[in-house]
Amino acid sequence: MKLNEKSFEISIAIDDKCALNGYLTVFGFSALIYNHITQNLILFDTGSNGDILVHNLSKFNVEIKEIKKVIISHDHFDHTGGLSVILKSNPDIDVFIPHNDLMRLKRVFPEAKMHGVDERTMIEENVFSSGQLGSHFSEQCLFLKTLDGGILLIVGCTHPGLENFILKGREIGKIKAIIGGFHGFNKYSYLEGIDFIGACHCTAHASSIQKRFPDQFKRICVGSSFSF
Ligand SMILES: [Zn+2]
Ligand SMILES: [Zn+2]
Repeated sequence: MKLNEKSFEISIAIDDKCALNGYLTVFGFSALIYNHITQNLILFDTGSNGDILVHNLSKFNVEIKEIKKVIISHDHFDHTGGLSVILKSNPDIDVFIPHNDLMRLKRVFPEAKMHGVDERTMIEENVFSSGQLGSHFSEQCLFLKTLDGGILLIVGCTHPGLENFILKGREIGKIKAIIGGFHGFNKYSYLEGIDFIGACHCTAHASSIQKRFPDQFKRICVGSSFSF
């Protein structure tokens, strides 16, 4: 491994708070991930609006048909809303969803290549699903393993509790960064030692988190890209 070799670039494609010039906000979350190791583009969640997703992706100079895989964190419209537009222009794309959502989403998208995820699963080199967590309904997050062995957590809404995804992630490495929705998370001690805290979509206690971790807390806007 060369020093400073990049593992992943994460670009914010949908969020509801803020956007850089020319990008649009809409309810929901979506992150575009470029895996430098496999040279694949992966989309994590699709926001609530396919047209806005396509607009923002085109600002990143990405066409839907270049994306290899879609990971859906959970079956809420603000994360699945762009899926129909993705499937229309890229019908052969692999879609990874929590196993408990497989029946319903297969009815909606009978032609799609849907993969239900139950336990922790390798999606491709250095990219893992946490497996589905939660009792009322199911949610997965992504663990991206960087070349130096650190873990980046990419999360949707974390309805089953961010701390549970953190505990799962720690099983495979030290967590360096979290990006996505923290929902009602307030067990702040779980964030100690994490360098990059990118709390955005659906984070109730963002200002408390920022107050406790002022150097680690990052402002996440649509159009931003972060390299790890
Ligand atoms: Zn949700
Ligand atoms: Zn959400």
